[in-house]
Amino acid sequence: MHYFFLEGEPLVEGENRVLFERDTAHAYRVLRLRAGDEVVVADGRGTARQAVVIHSSPREVSVLPGRKLPSGEPPLRITLFQALVKGDKMDLIIRQAVELGVYRIVPFISARSIPQHADRQEEKKHLRWESKIRAAAAQCRRAFLPLLEPVRSFEAVLPEIMGVKTFVPWEEERALPLGALLKKPCPEGMAVFFLIGPEGGFEKAEVNALFRAGAEKVHLGPRILRSETAAAAVITMVQAAWGDLSGEGECD
Ligand code: SAH
Repeated sequence: MHYFFLEGEPLVEGENRVLFERDTAHAYRVLRLRAGDEVVVADGRGTARQAVVIHSSPREVSVLPGRKLPSGEPPLRITLFQALVKGDKMDLIIRQAVELGVYRIVPFISARSIPQHADRQEEKKHLRWESKIRAAAAQCRRAFLPLLEPVRSFEAVLPEIMGVKTFVPWEEERALPLGALLKKPCPEGMAVFFLIGPEGGFEKAEVNALFRAGAEKVHLGPRILRSETAAAAVITMVQAAWGDLSGEGECD
């Protein structure tokens, strides 16, 4: 069943809602939705309802929300701090993270990030990434839209991670596998942060600064993963241990 986000206002049963303009043409022309068709609408904060199309035209499609659907949100809140990567790789990182249940995504600029600055396209990139989040959440039937933060400097990240269970997967770490840490009980606050470096990896000084801020250096096995693989692998591992990917996660 087709899935539309109507974020911003609570979805009330029996209260008509008009689809956002960004969805009208697709709903009317591509999906050919007409009065009486059933759809799902979600508020972006975890509530989804069944709904019926009550009016459909090239300019406006309106629906009538009905009964609530299960939210399916993991209790564990995973935040991915992702160093900026080249080109449109961030699109793939974002899509996979949303499907795997990430709670929040914080792009940041690390020493070897390309680009090295939040460029003039910043606003455009943020809007593009937000639309990738919406598309991925709709496709995987997720009523919650993970939060996307503005691009941070590396220095701004350090105070943010203090006091929260934080992992920094580092390609030069040999001693501690992430898997060993995941055998321990789920963190109290049910919040987990982790940082993934750019194509060029983390500098030792960055890893040391993160370590001083309380992050734990871990390795992800003997092979070097691309950033986009590492981000998806970590979320999968954490969700399988403590979240909703294994069914009996510690925090379920
Ligand atoms: N340029 C580096 C690889 C960077 S991979 C090299 O070729 O050695 C990008 C990011 O993915 C890394 O900064 C790290 O955060 C993560 N990563 C990839 N493979 C990893 C591994 N085996 N262990 C820990 N982290 C890894």
